[in-house]
Amino acid sequence: MMPLRLAFPAALLDLNKLSELSFIDYDDTHIKIGAMVRYSELLQSAEVGERIPLFAQALPFIAHEAIRNRGTMGGSIALADPAAEMPALLKALNATITIASTRGLRTIAADDFFLGIYETALNNDELVHSVTVPIANANQRFGFYELARRHGDYAMAGVAIAAQSVEPYAGLRMVFFSIGDYALRAPAAEAALNGKFQDDAIAIQQAQDALLSLEFNEDLNASGNMKAHLSGVVMRRALQSMRMEQH
Ligand SMILES: Cc1cc2nc3c(=O)[nH]c(=O)nc-3n(C[C@H](O)[C@H](O)[C@H](O)COP(=O)(O)OP(=O)(O)OC[C@H]3O[C@@H](n4cnc5c(N)ncnc54)[C@H](O)[C@@H]3O)c2cc1C
Repeated sequence: MMPLRLAFPAALLDLNKLSELSFIDYDDTHIKIGAMVRYSELLQSAEVGERIPLFAQALPFIAHEAIRNRGTMGGSIALADPAAEMPALLKALNATITIASTRGLRTIAADDFFLGIYETALNNDELVHSVTVPIANANQRFGFYELARRHGDYAMAGVAIAAQSVEPYAGLRMVFFSIGDYALRAPAAEAALNGKFQDDAIAIQQAQDALLSLEFNEDLNASGNMKAHLSGVVMRRALQSMRMEQH
């Protein structure tokens, strides 16, 4: 924001030395990731990749290695860029976000954290402390697809999908990014697919039609109509990748 001359803060607080925000903790059911953990640490961790397969699929699409070596979990979600992948991943995974302030810690669902373009549920005196992500079980399936002009660019449209099971689909969470004000769940499309089998072309078409109820924003890359079209494309390709994973 500063190099773009969009922000002129009077003071900067450097979080880099807060090593207590740089942890990855596991228990049997969840992984807790500190706000200062960098994308590259998540990508390099075999434990994270095994327990959160959606991260392993999606993180290579976040920018380039040099950016992934610096960008943090906390920075990505506090910034709440509508084109960022991480907010969509956390919503698809039904993650929770722990927030710290002088009043102590509070926890909020990722579903309720992102409120608008660069807008979150954080108050001015609050810090992202960590995120907690459920560990995947053997029945769950995940899909991810994004379309960008060049690999590493912000996407023109993308989607992250988590299913409690497939054949038939159950418990789908389908979250689009880079199409609207923030990472958007698509409940009507999820409803069109839940209970249906993966090769049900009519259900997939109904899900694609249901996407038109989402609010699409124009940006530098594409018009709203173009994004509506691309969201159908990325959804189909993400579902296809989930089918291929089965075989
Ligand atoms: C060339 C380039 C390409 C990029 N491409 C992508 C991309 O494809 N996809 C993508 O998702 N991102 C992309 N990014 C963004 C990048 O990955 C980082 O996520 C982003 O720049 C935030 O960086 P940071 O973690 O250093 O946070 P900062 O830049 O340090 O902070 C971002 C904002 O969050 C606040 N903040 C930071 N940490 C916390 C915290 N713990 N609690 C509360 N507030 C906090 C800061 O005050 C600031 O307002 C790109 C960035 C660049 C420069």
